[in-house]
Amino acid sequence: MKPTGLTGIRGSILNPLSVDRCEWIPDGLLVYDRAGQILYCGPNKKIPGIKYKPLNAPKKNIIIPGLIDCHSHLSQFDAIGQTGFTLLDWLKNHIYPAEVCLNNKKNAENISQRYFQVLLSSGITFSSLYTNFKTGVLAARRQAEKAGIRALIGYTLMDRTVPGYLKQNPARTIEECRVLSGLFKKSGNERLSFSLNPRFAPACTPDYLKMIGQLAQNEDLYIQTHLSENLFEVSAVKKAFPKVKTYAEVYDRFGLLTEKTLLAHCIHLSPAERDLIGKRGCGVIHCPSSNLFLHSGRFPLEHWMHYPKLALGSDIAAGPSVSMLDVMRDGYYANIQKLSGLFYMATLGGAKTLGMEKTIGSLKKGKQADFVILKTVHSKNASAEDVLSRIIFRSGQVEIKKVFLAGQEVWP
Ligand SMILES: [Zn+2]
Repeated sequence: MKPTGLTGIRGSILNPLSVDRCEWIPDGLLVYDRAGQILYCGPNKKIPGIKYKPLNAPKKNIIIPGLIDCHSHLSQFDAIGQTGFTLLDWLKNHIYPAEVCLNNKKNAENISQRYFQVLLSSGITFSSLYTNFKTGVLAARRQAEKAGIRALIGYTLMDRTVPGYLKQNPARTIEECRVLSGLFKKSGNERLSFSLNPRFAPACTPDYLKMIGQLAQNEDLYIQTHLSENLFEVSAVKKAFPKVKTYAEVYDRFGLLTEKTLLAHCIHLSPAERDLIGKRGCGVIHCPSSNLFLHSGRFPLEHWMHYPKLALGSDIAAGPSVSMLDVMRDGYYANIQKLSGLFYMATLGGAKTLGMEKTIGSLKKGKQADFVILKTVHSKNASAEDVLSRIIFRSGQVEIKKVFLAGQEVWP
């Protein structure tokens, strides 16, 4: 047989299957082609007609799909761990001053470069993020491209209740977003997409929300925003939009609840709001570390347990760790659940939330070979839950050895 350009990695494989099912293959094999597309993932065996260059993952190493962080703020990266406040005061005291730094090209490039390197070193291959200003978007795009990572990039949109140095002129900013959207589409880099990120309803005037909804529809863009994170925030929405019954309806009124909308937090929602989100097919992002850090409340997992578009987010900087392993651990502290459910949210659930499950999220024939090789202590006779427990609750003893995107090593 002639050389085929195929690579086959032998090792133990942990792979999400569904909302609460994960497979553990102690002696597994992952084969992918030169373009980074998976041809086989399963028990190690001879596959008729397929010849590959064999590579062995070292002993005690495990292969998992690349981790997906569905909610993070790149521009808050240097403000991690600023304590003492709940959401609204924390924003005022720590976050707004951090975000303004992205208005400087040099700062924006520097933060973006460090952010993506730390993500890759943590096994993250996709980040849905917020940055600030056009300079922030361009820097994030450039540095993400250099890192080879996948990302959904938008900048925080706001025109009221924030300091003057962050307030935008809606018409000018919408035009800027239209141009940026075109730039991302024209670039041909399928790993990177542009999104519209209204901060949250209280920070945007009705006119601005309307323009954002229209642009999202015209350009078929993703929308990222926050919903019902904190009770003071919910009261602020009632005051700002007295004629609208609920917080979720405010977004819906302006066309912001779509199948391409990612809603972070969703803690204090009414049954009617949950129904509305389900009807519109929005993604729901559970950010347990952030909810604990800012004492925002508990995400009511019991209502979302079987919702297919449920993902995890680090919510940097309210979440103090970039590691999705730590976020999974905090998810367990927030709600008792199977660890395979948390692993699903950080992999396949994230991909489904983004509508990208045909390409990423698990190791399956036809998908891209985005994967992480990590080292941890485990026994081959263990169950998937046992192995996940080692990885999630002893994350300090887990070493991320290598990270691959579409079959190419991107880290270290
Ligand atoms: Zn956030």
